[in-house]
Amino acid sequence: MASMNIVNVGKAYGSLTVIHGVSVEIPDGEFVVLVGPSGCGKSTLLRMVAGLEPISFGDIWIDGKVVNDLPPKDRDIAMVFQSYALYPHKTVAENMGFALKMRGETKADIDRRVRKAAEILDLVPYLARYPRQLSGGQRQRVAMGRAIVRDPKVFLFDEPLSNLDAKLRVQMRAEIKELQRRLATTMIYVTHDQVEAMTMADRIVVLRDGRVEQIGSPLTLYDRPANIFVAGFIGSPS
Ligand code: ADP
Ligand code: MG
Repeated sequence: MASMNIVNVGKAYGSLTVIHGVSVEIPDGEFVVLVGPSGCGKSTLLRMVAGLEPISFGDIWIDGKVVNDLPPKDRDIAMVFQSYALYPHKTVAENMGFALKMRGETKADIDRRVRKAAEILDLVPYLARYPRQLSGGQRQRVAMGRAIVRDPKVFLFDEPLSNLDAKLRVQMRAEIKELQRRLATTMIYVTHDQVEAMTMADRIVVLRDGRVEQIGSPLTLYDRPANIFVAGFIGSPS
């Protein structure tokens, strides 16, 4: 668990500014959903938090420390993407343990942590299988397993469910929420899907063209939208 503070963070690509000073304070263990139309800057903001993209201005604090210049591996953050490429020639267990192996951890340690993550994700019966032998939902859970074994302080999700069909998406939403309840970890979850945001978030950050339009609980955004954009975006069916 970790608190996070994003303070006036911006991003410019050359002369084009795509994030215009975004501030969000996230307490320990909160599930924050970053929502907004395609191209509004959700992935860019998440990648800056992860350290995959340098920030142009502002500060990112994790657990009381500025992490602006820390490389991703030193940030105690794990990211789950939409395209969760698994290694096809490695088993589920090997896929989940690979990052730990690269870090030089002992086999006993890796086995223990993979086992624990597999228990949390109901993947124990599948540890010896290969990705092609799994369903889409199981593959997505392996991708989450790779994040969990690293025991991060913060989880970042970038539209992790957008490649799944509607039924599986609803099921995986519940699984991710359950995961958050069990791990009590701070999570930032990016989606362009209003329903996903409304059903999953403790708090929602509505982004538009690289600016925050409103931050609040799903109920607050629904009852008291700050402007017509938020009202339209939250109120319209996906
Ligand atoms: P979202 O994830 O909300 O769809 P992105 O963060 O991917 O949005 O993109 C935000 C804006 O930044 C878009 O206008 C996009 O074209 C632009 N952008 C993203 N990456 C780059 C890049 N490497 N160079 C230039 N512009 C970029
Ligand atoms: Mg994106």
